[in-house]
Amino acid sequence: MNVKQIIAPQTGIAFEISKGEILVVTDPLGQQVSDMVLFNKNDVKEKISSGKTLDFEETILLSTHNFLWSNRSQKMMKIIKDTNGRNDFLLAPCSQETFEIMYKHSGHHPSCLENLYINLLSFGIEIDDIPTAFNIFMNVQFSKTGKLKVLPPTSQPGDFICFEAQMDLIVGLTACSAEDSNGGTFKPMKKNEFIKEYEF
Ligand SMILES: [Zn+2]
Repeated sequence: MNVKQIIAPQTGIAFEISKGEILVVTDPLGQQVSDMVLFNKNDVKEKISSGKTLDFEETILLSTHNFLWSNRSQKMMKIIKDTNGRNDFLLAPCSQETFEIMYKHSGHHPSCLENLYINLLSFGIEIDDIPTAFNIFMNVQFSKTGKLKVLPPTSQPGDFICFEAQMDLIVGLTACSAEDSNGGTFKPMKKNEFIKEYEF
């Protein structure tokens, strides 16, 4: 099986993946973020947890060999290869309110939160169920005093991150809609699924 899918700019998708299967998320053009949320397919109250992951992995910079953990302290995904190496797990998915509060935007603005919940609704997951996303290739820098800054992603065309599912999962994935997170332009992302033995 090789289920390829392009996530169009400023959109999202949701899909199931079984334990042991491989998910590859590729940035075809470079400098594009993808927000990823995970839910236990058999009980969607179990979901990806930033707090548990940062605690158990003892780092805020997650890359190859790290695990993503659930709110019930179970492993959900293992990162088996990450060719870029910079991801964020501090910031919430961008939302309509993000653009209003931080950028004084008026009128509708596409957002990761909207693109996640619209696609996850068919799995019985509602907007308030969506946790802090694992922000693939998002380049959040922090100073010694804790000041945060969002810089353009360092990902180059073709950079990818590869995960191995540790349980049966529902996955939500976006091509992020925030100007500042993506170097000012909106680009697609590509998703591939494989049954085991992915050859790099
Ligand atoms: Zn976003």
